[in-house]
Amino acid sequence: MSLVHAYTASSATAPLAPGTIERREVGPKDVLIDIAWAGICHSDIHTVRGDWGEVPYPLTVGHEIAGVVAEVGSEVTRHKVGDRVGVGCMVDSCRECANCLAGVEQYCLRGFTDTYNGTDRDGTVTQGGYSQRIVVDEHFALRVPEAIPFEKAAPLLCAGITTYSPLRNWNAGPGRKVAVVGLGGLGHMAVKLAHAMGAEVTVLSQSMKKREDGLRFGADHYHATSDPDTFERLANTFDLIVNTVSAPIDLDAYLNLLALDGAIVSVGAPPEPVAVTLFTLFENRRSFAGSKIGGIAQTQEMLDFCAEHGIAPEVEIVRADQINEAWERVLASDVRYRFVIDASTLGGA
Ligand code: NAP
Ligand code: ZN
Ligand code: ZN
Repeated sequence: MSLVHAYTASSATAPLAPGTIERREVGPKDVLIDIAWAGICHSDIHTVRGDWGEVPYPLTVGHEIAGVVAEVGSEVTRHKVGDRVGVGCMVDSCRECANCLAGVEQYCLRGFTDTYNGTDRDGTVTQGGYSQRIVVDEHFALRVPEAIPFEKAAPLLCAGITTYSPLRNWNAGPGRKVAVVGLGGLGHMAVKLAHAMGAEVTVLSQSMKKREDGLRFGADHYHATSDPDTFERLANTFDLIVNTVSAPIDLDAYLNLLALDGAIVSVGAPPEPVAVTLFTLFENRRSFAGSKIGGIAQTQEMLDFCAEHGIAPEVEIVRADQINEAWERVLASDVRYRFVIDASTLGGA
């Protein structure tokens, strides 16, 4: 057991504050990672603020981790000391159920272990990446290719894979019209990835404020959803809409934008139930689906794809003492486009 510095939530409302957390001893199949960078995902905020239910405090969040392997267990074969690795939303799963065997550990039928607010093997609550070090099973540590700037690697482990997975699974590519709703952390990755896959990409954002950015990230079109004309002009247009919005949206209005056999895939995770008018689904044989992060193999595929295509998130580096301010900016949709914590500022020697 070792103690490491962290930035920790003590309640749903108190600002995060410096503290320490325990990391387990390195087991035979574990790697110890010195965390260099930790991304701030909107899910961190939903979790701590209790949007998704009660959580045990104190809790350290963060599931976009990039770091360097500092120690390996005796049976580790995938990684060695000094390797650049990433850890996303999962730190364990049963590895035996049909879904784990199919490489979609995020749908482990026994439930995967979340990087934070999960139940660890020893029964303790898992603690996340706003910390100096983490110990994980080697299976859940990804290889970060050299071509990806290290400080930009962390957000790929959640924002990257969560958008890559539905784009791949719903066949974004040449000849397909893809819309991305919400240009935040996930949304801007969806735009870059869909463009690199060859799709015709449209951004649907609340305002025109980020238009230049959206086009620079590879979008072919950009529209404001605050303009009712947008919904008339774009009716029956898209093959795929990836919804990344962290708040409820008027799903029927967006369903109307789908062409024949089009699908809306929601990754945005507001807690409220959503209303869908079935008659809107009947038209154009539309569908409405959800998607959760991505499996380990697909996460590695995404990292390699980003390296090959020169794709990385737009990041704003923050010190530990700026995390609370960064959270407020995320909540105000004022993130350009992912905050990444410099883990060397988390305190202690
Ligand atoms: P983010 O950076 O805050 O981006 C969300 C974007 O949604 C904002 O930038 C904004 O874009 C838009 N938005 C926010 N509030 C809105 C409102 N009231 N009405 C309309 N649009 C609004 O958040 P993120 O980190 O990308 O995460 C997005 C969501 O995905 C969160 O709910 C998060 O928990 C969830 N998530 C899910 C998974 C999964 O596996 N399914 C994984 C990671 C995250 P514009 O200003 O451009 O409109
Ligand atoms: Zn996340
Ligand atoms: Zn399983």
